[in-house]
Amino acid sequence: MKTELEYLVILNDIELMIDDLGKGNAEVEEKLGFDVSRKEKLEDARKRTRESCSPQLLSRYDRIRGKYGKVIAPVFDGVCYGCFQRLPTQLAQVNKNEEILSCPHCGRFIYFMR
Ligand SMILES: [Zn+2]
Repeated sequence: MKTELEYLVILNDIELMIDDLGKGNAEVEEKLGFDVSRKEKLEDARKRTRESCSPQLLSRYDRIRGKYGKVIAPVFDGVCYGCFQRLPTQLAQVNKNEEILSCPHCGRFIYFMR
């Protein structure tokens, strides 16, 4: 069983891949031998991943996703690497990924690297 944070990381990756596909020219890609059903597969994976997240979490996710490409940011030494601002001491001291926390500066979900 994955944690909700892991699902969010996966969901964000899938959505960024879908964004990347949207930039390409499908006809050209097909000629070059790319699998044009990739988008459908990714959309299906996106749907299934969203079904694994709670509605409350998804609404938070979608709000942040409206602002940024990357919704989840790593934290190194108490600094959010989404906005490069220092987290408040209390939050920086959590240093574990048991609950889903957001950066108070940029709002991105954060995960602690150390
Ligand atoms: Zn931040």
